[in-house]
Amino acid sequence: MVPAMAGLSLRSESPRMNFVKLTTQYAVQTVPPASQLARPAIVLRNVGVTFATDTGPVEALAKLNLTINEHEFVSIVGPSGCGKSTVLRIVASLLAPSYGEVHILGSSAEEARRAYSFGVVFQNSVMLPWLTALQNVRLPLDVIAGVREKAAPISPGRLLEMVGLKGYEGLYPRQLSGGMRQRVAIARALSFDPPVLLMDEPFAAVDALTRQKLHALLLDIWNKARKTVLFITHDVYEAVMLSDRVLVMSRSPGQIDAEIHVDLPRPRAESIKTNPKYAALCARVLALLTRE
Ligand code: ADP
Ligand code: MG
Repeated sequence: MVPAMAGLSLRSESPRMNFVKLTTQYAVQTVPPASQLARPAIVLRNVGVTFATDTGPVEALAKLNLTINEHEFVSIVGPSGCGKSTVLRIVASLLAPSYGEVHILGSSAEEARRAYSFGVVFQNSVMLPWLTALQNVRLPLDVIAGVREKAAPISPGRLLEMVGLKGYEGLYPRQLSGGMRQRVAIARALSFDPPVLLMDEPFAAVDALTRQKLHALLLDIWNKARKTVLFITHDVYEAVMLSDRVLVMSRSPGQIDAEIHVDLPRPRAESIKTNPKYAALCARVLALLTRE
């Protein structure tokens, strides 16, 4: 299976309806703020991961606890190698923890994966090179259609339009820029309307201007569809701009050291960066990251 399709969802819940509204009207905001909906969507309890390597065991995560509520946008920041991707892989059920409990939407991570509850976007998301942009976005639906009968909540063509790729539907991956390919990956992750989006440094490899546009796109989608989002990044500014909460990880072994609540107003835009509170929050996260 293609990694980026590792978890795909067709769960029918209220966010689906909001998403459908988003696509038909694109301006309806009926979802209560995340703070009023405090049902846990992602729970890691006392989770540890040790990898066996040629040079001995590597303890990537130890006694890690994490709760992300439904419709919350939570980022994890931390230095390279601290275990961020390992956390995401556990949540996505791509990796089993050595110990500890994982609960996703009230089920195990594996059950959630089988229920297609996750859309996953990686830094360099895999697109099948022999399929066009449109066919790549449609791919999860083709896979899921074999599993269960369900109409796509929103057409792949419309999704490509939403991510700014109208007119590029027929192009192949080699004909698209890195930023465009990430847009396709986001459209694909949304194509089956999963309740949870898992993103591992999705914008790390695109240029600054494209990243700005992708931030705006993601905020727009989240603001209207209110997915539960776990967003991994090493970019503090990106984390603060996008998130409800920022979790700071330390390494050896990976643990969550601190959390910062980002009480900046929503909806947010690039202009939030001129808000003194934004600068203060970034400074706090940076201080936590660089402390000994
Ligand atoms: P991050 O995403 O924060 O950069 P990772 O989660 O990728 O960090 O890795 C955390 C630690 O676990 C690192 O020390 C890395 O070398 C190690 N690691 C990750 N995956 C494996 C693996 N499959 N086998 C052995 N060690 C691994
Ligand atoms: Mg990583």
